[in-house]
Amino acid sequence: MATCTYNPPNSNSNPGNSVSSIGNTNAPFRGTDWSKPYFCQNGSWFLEGVFPNVHPTAEAKLDLWIDNMEYFANIFGSLGTVNWVGQGGSFVDHRTTPSYHRTGEAIDLKFIKWPNAKNTKACNGPYDTSPSKPKRHRRYLAVEASLRKYFGYVLNTYIPDHDNHFHVDNGCPAGLAINWGSSLRQYKSVAYFIQDCCIMFNNASITLDGIWGSQTDNAFDDLLDVLNLDCTDPKNSLSDYRLFLDYVQMHGFKNKLAGYYTYSCGGPL
Ligand SMILES: [Zn+2]
Repeated sequence: MATCTYNPPNSNSNPGNSVSSIGNTNAPFRGTDWSKPYFCQNGSWFLEGVFPNVHPTAEAKLDLWIDNMEYFANIFGSLGTVNWVGQGGSFVDHRTTPSYHRTGEAIDLKFIKWPNAKNTKACNGPYDTSPSKPKRHRRYLAVEASLRKYFGYVLNTYIPDHDNHFHVDNGCPAGLAINWGSSLRQYKSVAYFIQDCCIMFNNASITLDGIWGSQTDNAFDDLLDVLNLDCTDPKNSLSDYRLFLDYVQMHGFKNKLAGYYTYSCGGPL
């Protein structure tokens, strides 16, 4: 089992990672070496006046994330190249609790705007997980799946105070679809994600409660069966978990139930 000691900084003076060492807090979301012309959109009320940059270590993961997400969104959802990403909460120093936000190593993702989608939020739970809008909900899960490939700490809409944005940070490397860490919020977020996938892609009759018990375990196994991923082991293998996340992105951006695409376990007999 992958483990991680989650230890967010309690001040902005984390050696080497301080605001002043990064300098510009009014820089684009992507650094100057990023060629694509989209920019950071102010993330509204939780931003509290700070227009954020992010720490290079977090930016590197965001770079990988958005390229990966764009690939799946384009191929399976025909959404086009991302216009802009709305984020907030990086380099905020008003917080009273330890947080990777203090050092620019966490961001709150609020909007993703694609040219071929109207009014896309894609990170906003009340909007994107509405029971009457399964297409949006599946796209929300596709975005979450792509985040989970690169960030070990992802908080989704079901976690208190996070209903309208994804929180991602640098606190842990990308982990498995199990209870791997020391943070209750992160554990619940992973369980919510898996349960949500089982419900939205395989009509699982389970309770969405963030508690990983036998029902979730069985529903997850059923989902893996339908995807023909039962020959893989996403609970113990990071590469197999990433493969599962690929399939969440494929079905999520395509707005299909699980089984529309299936893995080939095969190999020569
Ligand atoms: Zn946050």
